[in-house]
Parts: sequence; C-alpha cells; structure tokens
Amino acid sequence: MPNKENIESFLKAESLEVEQNYDLSYHTTIKTGGNADYYFSPKDLPSLKKLFQFLCSNKIPYKIIGNGSNLLISDRGVRGFVISPENLPRKINVGSNYIHVSTNFSNDKFLNFCKKNGVGGLEFLSGIPGTVGGLIAMNAGAFGSTIADFLFDVNVLDAQGKMQNLQKSQLKFDYRNIELNMSDYFFTSARLTYDKSDSEKTTKRCDQFLKRRTTLHLNNYPTFGSVFKNGSDYYAGRILDQCGLKGASVGAATIAEDHANFIINKGDATSADVYKLIKLAQKKAKEKFDIHLQPEVKLWGDFSYVK
Ligand SMILES: Cc1cc2nc3c(=O)[nH]c(=O)nc-3n(C[C@H](O)[C@H](O)[C@H](O)COP(=O)(O)OP(=O)(O)OC[C@H]3O[C@@H](n4cnc5c(N)ncnc54)[C@H](O)[C@@H]3O)c2cc1C
Repeated sequence: MPNKENIESFLKAESLEVEQNYDLSYHTTIKTGGNADYYFSPKDLPSLKKLFQFLCSNKIPYKIIGNGSNLLISDRGVRGFVISPENLPRKINVGSNYIHVSTNFSNDKFLNFCKKNGVGGLEFLSGIPGTVGGLIAMNAGAFGSTIADFLFDVNVLDAQGKMQNLQKSQLKFDYRNIELNMSDYFFTSARLTYDKSDSEKTTKRCDQFLKRRTTLHLNNYPTFGSVFKNGSDYYAGRILDQCGLKGASVGAATIAEDHANFIINKGDATSADVYKLIKLAQKKAKEKFDIHLQPEVKLWGDFSYVK
C-alpha cells in the first residue's frame, strides 16, 4: 500500500473529495464500529472508475458500503477505502419484461416505485432495510423467496474500473450470499424480472408482508438483523433459544428477548461486545448441538484484539 502522501497527491491531482478517518458507526444500523482510513462517496461514475484503477494498481484495499444493515465493523476501523454509492445518480424504469434499477436506491424507495407502477412479485422484500446493491450482494430474502429468484442481470464496475454486464448465470447465489470469481465488484444497476400486477394489489401484498414481519420482531433497538444463517435442518434462532441465550448480554450488546437470532444494541455497545456475544453463541451451539453457526453478518476489519 503506498504511503499517505502518494494517496493524497493522487486524490488532489484528480480533484477527488475524500474524507479521512471517517466514523463508520453512523453508517451501520447496529451503531457500532470504528473509522475508515478514507471514505469516498462519488457524485459520478467516472470519478469512481479513476479511483478503482488507482486502488487496483496500488493494491489498496477497499470495501463497498450500502445502508450498513448487515455489517459489524471492528472498533479499530477499516484500512484503506470505504466507498458509498449514496451520492451517485439514481435511475429506475420499468419495461415490459424487466425493472431496471440503480443499486443505490433504498429498498423502501424501490418498493414504493413498485407499488405505484404495479410491479409485482418482489413484495416479500418489504421491511428489509438496505440498498438494492446490498440486497443483491447478500441475496436477501424472506418468507421463502430471495432477490436472486428475480435477478436477470447486473451491471458492475470491476476492480480495474471497467464496466461489465453479468448475466445471472455468471453469478453463483446461495443462502444470503453471492459468490463471484473476483471479489470487489461494485454493482451499479440491475435488471429484475417481475410479475405484472396493479398498484392496489402490490401495495396490499407489501402491507401483508410487513405485518407478518412486525409480528416476528417487535423491538426498535439498533441491530443488523439475523446474526447467523439458518442451516438446511435447523433455525439458528431456535438453536440459540434452546441454549437459553435470550437476554444474554455483553455490555449493552444483548441477544433479543423476542428473537434469539437478533443481537441488539441497548445503548453504548461496542463491536467488541457484539463480537464476544457472537463467539459465546457459537460456543453454546457447538457444545449443546454440535452445530457450527455461520455468521450471516459481514465482519469488517480486525477482531483479533477481542479476548
Ligand atoms: C431489522 C433488520 C431486519 C433484517 N431482515 C432481513 C431479512 O428479512 N432478510 C434478509 O435477507 N436480510 C435482512 N436483514 C439484513 C440486511 O437488511 C440485508 O442483508 C441487506 O441486504 C443489506 O443491505 P445494505 O445495503 O444495508 O448492505 P450493507 O450492510 O451495507 O453491506 C452488506 C454487503 O453488501 C455489499 N454491498 C452493498 N452494496 C453493494 C454494491 N452496490 N455493490 C457491491 N456490493 C455491495 C457490502 O460490501 C457488504 O458485503 C435485516 C437487517 C436488519 C437491521
């Protein structure tokens, strides 16, 4: 990784406005985590292409952040760049077969468009916090459906700063995951198939899914949603409940009373507190059921300091 001066002279030469030592805790829904060395929120794609080329040729690490709804970021922060698409231009339009959407749309705004335009099929996404990019990267889903079921193709900026169009067949989706041959793709827009519906029907179905969701999880504390993936023959929440972990806490990080697979931040929890709770849950599940629970939440940065 080049030194600070080289990075700064590149940014200056290219007139790229980048923030340093940027507090990421505000960008995560669990409200914990340290700083990014550099935080970039480009207003246009050419600036991002230039930065990617520089990062790639200098082997500088970077990460893409959406709404931060599925992230646990080390209290010691993230080295290199964190890139947010929040200020890039947004477009959404619906054709006869596909809905084409920029990935920096929030899921809420995306579904509002679907409601207004009678775009059906995707209502199961109601209430999942995140951006469309985050939904695709996580293969988000609920009630037996996932976004991959509807994905047709995705436009990406690769690590060399080149635009590519990837068909769904080039992407390998599995449970809450997408595997790519190369990591570090930045999704810019996607085309999704949909069911033809009407505004009233789509709105009603969104409301029904939202209602089902609020009966599952009642409290409003900061959280990143499910901590662990379900297995093919078990629900992580049920395993944790049977381990007696509801209400267990480290500092202000607590396993929710109403949903054992949710960790909530009841106040001033640190990422280390949350991490310790994750380790405790894994230990108990291993001891009692011989199951190794796999985190669904993405861990960013170094956690080796947590003892
Ligand atoms: C209360 C609550 C309920 C939840 N319920 C559900 C649920 O029912 N089902 C479910 O699946 N999830 C659920 N989640 C988890 C979360 O909402 C999803 O994983 C969501 O898809 C994350 O989107 P995001 O934009 O916040 O992504 P982030 O958390 O910011 O990032 C997640 C991953 O996506 C990558 N990413 C984000 N944007 C891009 C992009 N443009 N290009 C490339 N990579 C990108 C990031 O690099 C990271 O690896 C819940 C979370 C909360 C807080």
